[in-house]
Amino acid sequence: MLPFIDLASQQQRIRDKVDVAIKKVLDHGGYILGPEVGELEKQLGDFCGTNHVLSCSNGTDALGLVLRAKDIKAGDAIFVPSFTFAATAEVVAWVGATPVFIDVLPDTFNMDPTSLEKGIQKAKDLNLIPRGVIIVDLFGQPADYDALLPIADQHGLWVMADAAQSFGASYKGRKVGVLAQTTTTSFFPAKPLGCYGDGGAVFTQDSDIFSVLKSLRVHGQGSDKYENVRIGINGRLDTIQAAILIEKLAIFSDEIKERQRVADRYNEGFMDIATVPFVLDGCQSTWAQYTLLVNPDHRTVIIDKLKAAGIPTVVYYPLPLHKQKAYARYPIASGKLSVSETLANSVLSFPMHPYLEVEIQDFIIKTTQEVFRELKSS
Ligand SMILES: *Cc1c(COP(=O)(O)O)cnc(C)c1O
Repeated sequence: MLPFIDLASQQQRIRDKVDVAIKKVLDHGGYILGPEVGELEKQLGDFCGTNHVLSCSNGTDALGLVLRAKDIKAGDAIFVPSFTFAATAEVVAWVGATPVFIDVLPDTFNMDPTSLEKGIQKAKDLNLIPRGVIIVDLFGQPADYDALLPIADQHGLWVMADAAQSFGASYKGRKVGVLAQTTTTSFFPAKPLGCYGDGGAVFTQDSDIFSVLKSLRVHGQGSDKYENVRIGINGRLDTIQAAILIEKLAIFSDEIKERQRVADRYNEGFMDIATVPFVLDGCQSTWAQYTLLVNPDHRTVIIDKLKAAGIPTVVYYPLPLHKQKAYARYPIASGKLSVSETLANSVLSFPMHPYLEVEIQDFIIKTTQEVFRELKSS
């Protein structure tokens, strides 16, 4: 089976540097909040143009830390897309607030502004206090912030961007990290910028939120370690992971270019057989996933036939969150969130990583074309 994401080739490219970086940490012994952590935070800030970066334990904690910093609690409504990874809604429920599920757009798969407006009204009808919106940049493409932010503004909501899949992307000339009040990302190994374990970060221009986040990351600490001024968590990023990320960040821009190369070739090869990804004008995706829309009646057959040819595909996501057992009791914006439901039945993601060779990719394209042709004639 071909790799869906080829972390081995990337490791080979930087292995010498990673070995040296890890050895350095072992030599100085600063395993917790060692010098590499601060260095990485500085480099991440330079990369995307934010003043403040807080590295942390993972992308889920990054979201949760911001909700804590914003004092989100029972009775508050936070608007989240239904078509996303569970963590986006999970953190809202975890702090006792109510996630209100919003539908997504059929072309970009990102939050639908009209559905957001309906969701805000729904929350008010339910006597919840609308507090914030978590915008997800699904599969690596920034959502349409110019359409969503004015709605949030109009209703006095703060906005957090869940950029677990999109760190490194840009929207109309601005990098992900500066598009919302706070932005979070994940360094889970399979994300576009991943470490060799769990990791995450929060980006903000707001120094007040930043100082609260910093305190929350270490048990709500005050001016020293054993003064606790609020309830926090243990949410630090390991120094070894920071050292690895510094080496990965050094090749990240080049990798994003390579991902675009792969996406372009897929687009050409798949254009005539399926709906290829739509990217907004002036936007650059990180291509966390390359996702086609296929005939729902054929999807299982396509998956099986490709698997038999050694080509892995994945369905992200088979069920929208408002249909999941754990989240079915929470409100939805209106109607059925029919776009989220339709997408869940039609999406199919293909192998995507910067090290996908042209010959391998052409094999994937050719094989997929043949599978589609067979299905059409049967
Ligand atoms: C991966 C992911 C997260 C969670 O990140 P972890 O580091 O795994 O906790 C949150 N939101 C989205 C959209 C993700 O894809």
